[in-house]
Amino acid sequence: MTSDTNDHRQLDHLLSNSAARLDRWRDLNAKAQAWAAEVRCARTGAGAGPVQEALADLRPMESYFAYPGVRLLHALDERIADGDGMGAARLILRMSNSLLSGSYRYDEGEWQATEEFSAEGPDRTPPGLAGSHASRPYFEALFVSPAPAARAAAITREIRELRRHDDPLIYEPVLVGSVEDALLATILNGKLEAVVIYDGIPIPSKHDAPLLRDFLSVYEHLDMTVDAPREIGVRLAHMISRIRPELDIYLLTDRNVEQLAGDPSASAIRRVFYEVEEPMEVHLNILEGVRDRQSTPHFDNLKQYAAKPISTFHALPIARGKSIIKSNWIRDFGEFYGLNLFLAETSATTGGLDSMLEPTGNIKVAQEKFARAVGADHVFFVTNGTSTSNKMVYQAVTKPGDIVIVDRNCHKSHHYGMVLSGAQPLYVEAFPMTEYSMYGAVPLRTVKEALLALKSAGRLDKVAMVTLTNCTFDGHIYNTQRVMAECLAIKPDLIFLWDEAWFGFARWSPFLRMRTAMGAAAALQAWRDDPKALEAWQAQCRELGEDLDPKDPRLLDRVLVPDPRAMRVRVYETDSVHKSMSSLRQGSIIAVRDEDYEHHVSAFHEAVFIHASTSPNAQIIASLDVARRQMELEGYELVMRAIEVALAIRREVANHPLISRYFSVLGADKMIPEEFRASGFADYLAPRMNWLTAVKSFKEDEFCLDPTRLTLVCGTAGYDGTTFKNLLASRYNIQLNKTSRNSVLLQSNINNTRSDVAMLIKVLLEISEEIESGFKESGEAGRAEFAEKVRSLMEDVPSLPNFSRFHDGYRDDPRSPTQEGNMRDAFFAAYNEADCEYLPLSSQDIDKRLEAGPPLVSANFVIPYPPGFPIMVPGQIIDAHTIEFMRKLDVKEIHGYNGARGIKLIKPSAIGV
Ligand SMILES: *Cc1c(COP(=O)(O)O)cnc(C)c1O
Repeated sequence: MTSDTNDHRQLDHLLSNSAARLDRWRDLNAKAQAWAAEVRCARTGAGAGPVQEALADLRPMESYFAYPGVRLLHALDERIADGDGMGAARLILRMSNSLLSGSYRYDEGEWQATEEFSAEGPDRTPPGLAGSHASRPYFEALFVSPAPAARAAAITREIRELRRHDDPLIYEPVLVGSVEDALLATILNGKLEAVVIYDGIPIPSKHDAPLLRDFLSVYEHLDMTVDAPREIGVRLAHMISRIRPELDIYLLTDRNVEQLAGDPSASAIRRVFYEVEEPMEVHLNILEGVRDRQSTPHFDNLKQYAAKPISTFHALPIARGKSIIKSNWIRDFGEFYGLNLFLAETSATTGGLDSMLEPTGNIKVAQEKFARAVGADHVFFVTNGTSTSNKMVYQAVTKPGDIVIVDRNCHKSHHYGMVLSGAQPLYVEAFPMTEYSMYGAVPLRTVKEALLALKSAGRLDKVAMVTLTNCTFDGHIYNTQRVMAECLAIKPDLIFLWDEAWFGFARWSPFLRMRTAMGAAAALQAWRDDPKALEAWQAQCRELGEDLDPKDPRLLDRVLVPDPRAMRVRVYETDSVHKSMSSLRQGSIIAVRDEDYEHHVSAFHEAVFIHASTSPNAQIIASLDVARRQMELEGYELVMRAIEVALAIRREVANHPLISRYFSVLGADKMIPEEFRASGFADYLAPRMNWLTAVKSFKEDEFCLDPTRLTLVCGTAGYDGTTFKNLLASRYNIQLNKTSRNSVLLQSNINNTRSDVAMLIKVLLEISEEIESGFKESGEAGRAEFAEKVRSLMEDVPSLPNFSRFHDGYRDDPRSPTQEGNMRDAFFAAYNEADCEYLPLSSQDIDKRLEAGPPLVSANFVIPYPPGFPIMVPGQIIDAHTIEFMRKLDVKEIHGYNGARGIKLIKPSAIGV
């Protein structure tokens, strides 16, 4: 095996296997061009050897893709055997270009071995290939069949012959003959949309490719000890659906179809066929299954609506666009957006359109499809962003006096949600990352401590919900399943709200899916259904008793098991679809997996009525529908690419001799303290890090790091976060949103490509070069000044203030040792200006009162950006740490704080205790 191949063992290739494949093609291409050059100049050199070697490396992987496929690779073998270096190089170049550009999907000529044909372009369909690829969406379908390899070409032809000219879609078959190969194809081939499994397939791959087998082992334990070989098909279907739940799976069997269709383990299978059934039936089902994901009921309807001649007499002059197109003054608005926007603007809820507030038609169906896509029982569309989604959840499931355990560092919509619902926050703190002036995530131990303290205080019955941000802005991902399981061990009917504003895309990564709220809720339910769950709980009872003693210190140090008979799975997830998928801004969803949802139905509807606009924007709803379509059809591939882009940035920054002198991207080892990384996982680029460790980290660690979120340290280049962000924006048109004192956050998403990586690296290089040339001019003095600036940015970091406490006047029971507070009362107390006072930060009165009282009580939220979380909330006692932090704060944007007047306080006289 060549050293190049060893490269592919690298961890990053686990997460970026499509890039790995293209890298191999580039490598093959380079070697072929070298050989062709030798032939052309009649030089003696390495000859065909390197090409053959590279091809041998690539070949096992190629069997999982339709293009270039057996026929083209065979033609290539022939040219190599004939010593036709130039011909081989031409063919290889054409194949690799076609793969890179994706042109094989619509250009039939790309499939032909003879160059004459391809030169004539795609119009001429070769005999035997009915239906050209042009203009129809293309995908690949996997056929897992025990048929001998010698029959492969004939089978492929038979499948192609099923094509009809009026098929709305076109697919190419990929044939594999074993369970291992089927799983590898599922993992590697992002173009797959459907899988057809024939009963009676063998398990091991026919390829002797230990590397691929290694690779497979991180996804699936191939425990195929089945009682009857016939069960293999069903088992394979189950395994495939765990890796890519969106794929349609069909099973062809000679068993009793009716019986199999009722088998619960067959739930992953879309349809079971009796093997002798018409192949055309299978073909039509494959197309129909993909069409079902492709169809976007609301968007499709809106397009139809826009095309109808309609007169409107409702209050929406913009609808149909006449007031715009005919205007003397605003016609450019219409020209800019195009007429369709206005034709599709409507307030109608009839005539084929649906009501967002009481959906019964296409919006309802669109929501159901989205629920299927994210693995939820229900999905609700929200057109005012996740800010509103979060408030709706608080409104629906909490009431005044309920306690919510919540990360103080979470998005402000949670704090405001509690002001609205009257729920009382019990703030818990994330672990600090003081060197970078930011917070991590809340350790599970902290959440358990809070719950146990409430139990000790006799207030556990007040606790309604636990709210956490998954993943955090900076990329900390919770072990959602473990957090919920352990909390449910303390209180079995807790509700969880996971704010996954950034994390919606994670559903389409087999590694990240288990860490989404919906993925974890499903796993919890599956766990509960296993008899081992009850055994585990009974074992715990023997040790700790049935009713956990909150004072028992062992509870914090061990993994707690909930009572599977008592626990309820009640999980809410909110996603800003617009932040990680192709939705217009403000497109958001609430995904629900709540066994007791029926108790909340009316409250939930009420919450929608309270918070949703009565004029929801049809375009946002359509974009939610379309975003779902895209993710269900190409999410797997796109998310893999987003991860590839992020890993490429990490690699380039770390390996560039000049850039790495001034910049670095923080790895998991810097972002997550060691105690939370039991797997020992350090970083995506760490040498000798193996696949199994990375996957263990995803599966087991308390926190893992989202690879697509990159904290780039710029303090070491002499820039504070805000200055660096502005520099990137003004000079290079590179936009990003989050900064800390000495870092900026970069993110990759499904929109990024490798050329974005090149662009960013070029910019970082330019900035690094500038720093160096600056030294040439300024000499030693300049270097010293630079070093001092870096030191100040990297070392003089203000420590972040923890939440102090609520004033006793805003606590239901001032004697309770638990720190929840009645924030809403404080919030409204401040409405009475006469009860408030202002103290400038520089005022000596502040210091006097800090020393001798009476305590300073915040009248409102104060939220500096960065860090972007409230360092004061209404009713909170402001302590010396917070004042010190505010005095040092050098950011311009501080919501809720007026520098000229000072901090707003509730007067002591206005607070009754
Ligand atoms: C952005 C964000 C929100 C709010 O979402 P919008 O869609 O912008 O309203 C909520 N929570 C978190 C963690 C966010 O990052």
